[in-house]
Amino acid sequence: MSEEQTATTTAPVLEVQRRKVANVFRGAPWIFPNAVRNGPDEPGLLKVVTETGRFVGWADYNPQAPVPGRLLSRGEDWPGEEVWLRLRLQSALERRMRLGYSFGGGGVRLVNGEGDGMPGLVIDAYGTTMVYDFYTRAMRERGELIVQILKPQFSDYHHVMRMGRDAAEREHCEPLEPATTEIIFGENGLCFQAQLDASQKTGFYLDQRDNRRFIARCAAGRRVLDLFAYHAAFSLSALAAGARSALAVDSSTEALATAMKDAERNGLSLMTSEADVFSSLPEIAKHGPFDMIICDPPKMAPSRKHREKGLGAYRRLCRQCLPMLGQGGLLLLSSCSQAIDTDDLRGILGQISSRQRLALDVVAITHQPADHPWPVGFLTGRYLSTVIVERRGQM
Ligand code: SAH
Repeated sequence: MSEEQTATTTAPVLEVQRRKVANVFRGAPWIFPNAVRNGPDEPGLLKVVTETGRFVGWADYNPQAPVPGRLLSRGEDWPGEEVWLRLRLQSALERRMRLGYSFGGGGVRLVNGEGDGMPGLVIDAYGTTMVYDFYTRAMRERGELIVQILKPQFSDYHHVMRMGRDAAEREHCEPLEPATTEIIFGENGLCFQAQLDASQKTGFYLDQRDNRRFIARCAAGRRVLDLFAYHAAFSLSALAAGARSALAVDSSTEALATAMKDAERNGLSLMTSEADVFSSLPEIAKHGPFDMIICDPPKMAPSRKHREKGLGAYRRLCRQCLPMLGQGGLLLLSSCSQAIDTDDLRGILGQISSRQRLALDVVAITHQPADHPWPVGFLTGRYLSTVIVERRGQM
C-alpha cells in the first residue's frame, strides 16, 4: 500500500447528516454547520461520510467558518494535495485556452473557486501579474505550493498573494496584505490599473468585461452617466469608442483618483464626481438627460435575509435613473448579489417604467463571463446579473 493510499484509509472523518447534504449530492460543494454531526475541533482536510456510512467526498473543514465544509473532490481515492492541485490548476488553464482566452497582456480569471473545483481560491492574471486570492484558511495555507506549481508556466510573471479582511474574519485567520499594489494591464484595447489591498476583490472588476464591450459597441456620440464607477472602466470604454462625454460617480476618493490616472493613460477626457449616489441623484439629474446610464452598485443583499432591503435600494435607483434617460437611451443595471437576479431587476424595471409611463425594452440579459464559471447545481456561484434596457419613448 502506498503512502497516499494509507492516508486515504486512515484520514480523519467528518460525519454529516444525509438529509442535510442533499444540496451536495445535487452538485453544490458547500457543507453548512447544520449538516455536521461529528467532526474534529481543528481545521483540516477530511473524508466526508453520512451517518449511514455513504461516502460524500473530500473536503476542507474549518469548524469556525460560517461554511465549515468545502468539497474538493468526489472521488473515493484522495491523490494527495499536490497531485490534486496540479490536476485542477492544469485543467483550469486548459479550459481558459479552450474558451479562447489568452494570457500575456490582458485580465483573465484563471481560477474561479467552486467553478473550477477549487473552493476558496481565485486566481486572476493581470498583464504579467498573477494575483492569488484566498477565501478559506486551507487555501491560504496552500498558497506557496499553488504559486510553486504555476510558476514554471508563468515564469516571467509577478506572483502576488492576498487574503481580504472579510474572508480572513470569516475564516478566523489573519488577512494577507499584498506587497505589490499597482498593476497595469489591458482590456478591450485600453490600459487599466488594478489596485491591490485587503479591501477590494482582486483589484478590478473583470466580471464586467463583456458588458463593457457591449457598452463600447454602441457608445458613439452618447452622453454617459456611470454610477458606482470604481475606476470608471465603463466610462473609459465608452469614451474610447466615441462617447460624447462621461461622468463617473463614486463615493471613493481613491477609486476616482485611479479613474483619472487611467483616463490620462489612455488620453481620454473623463468627468468625475465624488458623491453618495443615493443622496446625490437629484443633483446629478440636473446634468441630464443622458443617453447611457450604467448602474453597477456594490452588493446590495449579502444574503437572502437582506433581499427586501436590497430590492428597495434598486427600486429607488430605478425611480431616479429612468427619468434621466433620453429617447433611445440605454440603462445597464447590474446586481452582484446572488439573492437579487435578472428576474428581480427586470421585474423592478417593469413596475417602475409602467408607473412612469415609459416604454422600455430589454436588449440584453447577461451573467458573469466564461472565465468565471460556476457548477450547474450551485446557483450561489452565479452572482452577477445584468439587464440592459432601451427607452423607446412614452407608453
Ligand atoms: N462598475 C465598476 C465596479 C463597481 S464596484 C467597474 O466596472 O469596474 C462598486 C463601487 O461602488 C465601488 O467603487 C464603491 O466605492 C462604490 N460605492 C459603494 N457605495 C457607494 C455609494 N453609496 N455611492 C457611490 N459609490 C458607492
